[in-house]
Amino acid sequence: MVKARWFGMFVGMAVIAASMFALPPSLRLYVFDCGQLNYNNASAYQLKPEEVARTDMGMGCYLVAHPKGTLMWDAGAIPDGSWKPTGSPMRLHFMLPDKTERDVTITKPLKTQLAAAGYSPKNITYLAFSHYHWDHIANANDFASATWIVRKTEHDIMFSAPEVERTIRANYDKLGKSKKVILNSEDYDVFGDGKVVLKSTPGHTPGHQVLYLDLPKTGKVVLAGDLYHYPEERTLNRIPPRDFSPQQTAVSRTALDAFLKQTGAALWIQHDVTNHAKLKKAPEFYE
Ligand SMILES: [Zn+2]
Repeated sequence: MVKARWFGMFVGMAVIAASMFALPPSLRLYVFDCGQLNYNNASAYQLKPEEVARTDMGMGCYLVAHPKGTLMWDAGAIPDGSWKPTGSPMRLHFMLPDKTERDVTITKPLKTQLAAAGYSPKNITYLAFSHYHWDHIANANDFASATWIVRKTEHDIMFSAPEVERTIRANYDKLGKSKKVILNSEDYDVFGDGKVVLKSTPGHTPGHQVLYLDLPKTGKVVLAGDLYHYPEERTLNRIPPRDFSPQQTAVSRTALDAFLKQTGAALWIQHDVTNHAKLKKAPEFYE
């Protein structure tokens, strides 16, 4: 009897601890280091090796914390459960379903970094990806309790038969049962105040999108997903031939340029390894 009461108290305290995360008084952006893709094939991006300062790619995951809830943006390249962290950078080599090989250096699991910022996957209100490729969805299943905001075209491809290439379905299949907000090509104002907006930018994939943030101190920022990978794609106007529709990518880039001009927002190219290295990482944050 006494034991049962103690156990009840323990469970009660655990429940309180799990729900004790605080939404911030104003908008914040946490940046997580989700590894570095060691890559050396500039020609896949219509660039000559000598035209690209660095061919490896940074890989960020991002948590947007708003007074009304949270949004996880992109979920990394390597599932936390698939490797054992040592505290030092680890080089992982693996083959994708399309039989191409990849080499990623990673140091900290996403959930460890999320916890350091004071959050767990249960505290995530919304989940959205720039697109479905393997290097953006690896930890998606951890966030299946969130409401998934997804473009219809993207959703349909992700669950099509046969399985689509350039991704790993087992890493996101639990989202099939998640609550969803299904979008077409409209802008989507996540918290209703214009500060966190998903913008459709198809081309790299049919339902590719970018994330606009209006941060109180940092200012306006667009997280570019894979609308660009290398900054040189932007300065030299090159489009990856392997994009689902290079033509759509061109249209999306032009439309986003007009938006950047109109708003004065800065463009953060997520795979730009130099920019990614410069960003402050969680538990520090942008506000
Ligand atoms: Zn990518």
